Amino acid sequence: MIIGSHVHFGKEQFLGSVKEAVSYDANALMLYTGAPQNTYRSNIDLELYKRALKLMEEKNIQIDHVICHAPYIINLANKAKEEAWNFSINFLKNELKRCETLKIKYIVLHPGSAVTHSKEEGINNIIEALNLLNLNESQSMILLETMAGKGSECGSTLEEIKTILKGVNSSNIGVCLDTCHLNDAGYDMDKFDEFLDLFDSIIGIEKIKCIHINDSKNPLNSHKDRHANIGYGTIGYASLLKIVNNEKIKDVPKILETPYISKDDNEKELIYPPYKFEIAMLRKGEFNSHLIDDIRSFYK
Ligand code: FE
Ligand code: FE
Ligand code: ZN
Repeated sequence: MIIGSHVHFGKEQFLGSVKEAVSYDANALMLYTGAPQNTYRSNIDLELYKRALKLMEEKNIQIDHVICHAPYIINLANKAKEEAWNFSINFLKNELKRCETLKIKYIVLHPGSAVTHSKEEGINNIIEALNLLNLNESQSMILLETMAGKGSECGSTLEEIKTILKGVNSSNIGVCLDTCHLNDAGYDMDKFDEFLDLFDSIIGIEKIKCIHINDSKNPLNSHKDRHANIGYGTIGYASLLKIVNNEKIKDVPKILETPYISKDDNEKELIYPPYKFEIAMLRKGEFNSHLIDDIRSFYK
């Protein structure tokens, strides 16, 4: 099973990310090349990068199982402020270069929110922007993430994702599924095989290059996008276990983006990463009803 979680990219950059993934017993990871909330990015330190590669070799983590995620504030759908739209495009051009330097093949991108535009206009803006990235000349590939359909988000249906893919003048673009988003968008994760058949008929299963494994705090079709810990949401452990073990996507990296855990039930601040325990629970194939307690006693 190729499984990991999103990890930090701190002072030690990629080396820090790999160390964190190793601490979760992961063999895949997803990182932001800086803070997820902003677009400030430091220069890549090649010395740290070399040490990261060495650690990956020791721990059997393949570079193809390392995913990058673009920051949330990038919005290709909204052209109302042309400056911000151009900024997003330039940021992604640089991100593609940063990923080429790091030999990271995949960059996950939220397609964008139309805001004051119609959905159709939003989607056209996304296509126009993606076509300005010269994806054919890039060693790295953009993966459009399937969204929950919160607010004016584009890309919450397979048809919308298909429209974007068709409009882009390059085949160097793929898809990242997110089980929480799919649930919230109205796709039943209890029937994942049927979903994959549908995906295959509309887009083509070979386009799936990454899958975010999250439970959801909200019911099917709620258009909310709030992630829950594995087995502690509306999708449930049994369905998520089937998904991570699905033969048709067995080579696709699975990435957890579930919420951190608080110190105790009265505490609001979420401080403990759940990934080591969620990964173990999915590898083992058995639900852990003491998951939260196990995480608390491990990190305290
Ligand atoms: Fe995402
Ligand atoms: Fe996601
Ligand atoms: Zn989400």
